[in-house]
Amino acid sequence: MNDRVGDYVARLFAAEDEILVSLREEADRTGLPPISISADTGRLLQVLLLAIGARRVLEVGTLGGYSAIWIARGLPVDGQLTSIEVEPRHAEFAARYLRRAGVDGKVDIRVGHALDVLASLDGEQFDAIFLDADKEPLPTYFEWGLRLVRRGGLIIADNALWGGRVVDERVDDESTRGVRELNRRMATDPRVAGILVPTHDGVAIGVVR
Ligand code: SAH
Ligand code: MG
Repeated sequence: MNDRVGDYVARLFAAEDEILVSLREEADRTGLPPISISADTGRLLQVLLLAIGARRVLEVGTLGGYSAIWIARGLPVDGQLTSIEVEPRHAEFAARYLRRAGVDGKVDIRVGHALDVLASLDGEQFDAIFLDADKEPLPTYFEWGLRLVRRGGLIIADNALWGGRVVDERVDDESTRGVRELNRRMATDPRVAGILVPTHDGVAIGVVR
């Protein structure tokens, strides 16, 4: 999608309110990495969650809470998002904005390494998991998704195009390998029906069969 078409979609379908705008501005000002999802990706998440009637969602990679706010707003009043973040500074920033957005009652931030927190959640069941942290372990996160998400639920991964590096044959680092392997499983693993939507940096979506 070229920029003008992308802007058209984002303006029409994914307008940000003042809280989301202020979150991004403060994140930039205070040196949080500018790697939140795009607004149209946020809207896509909401549409998907509403479509499956999601009540319980798991996010891997909170950062400043930008995606968490989009997700929480796509859940019913008694819905619950558990979001995993390894950096306490990111988790504190996110907690502040979740309060400002009035969704702090719906979101539980767990500070820790994703693999440790995921293991502690074994036995629980979620309607969807959103993978948006480090990319090397994506194949392992995908397997956790299959374990934790109910049948008919969703495994969703951001940055599935990884800035175009997935198709650049000269690139062969661990992160890119992780994204390629995630995409390969989304495309071919019989346990999911998957697709990659080329929104922004790409969103891979798999329905758990
Ligand atoms: N979902 C966020 C952006 C997440 S950026 C949004 O769209 O608003 C990725 C985040 O994952 C960073 O905050 C980083 O600290 C965190 N992260 C990276 N590796 C992690 C790991 N192994 N476990 C938990 N969090 C991790
Ligand atoms: Mg991302």
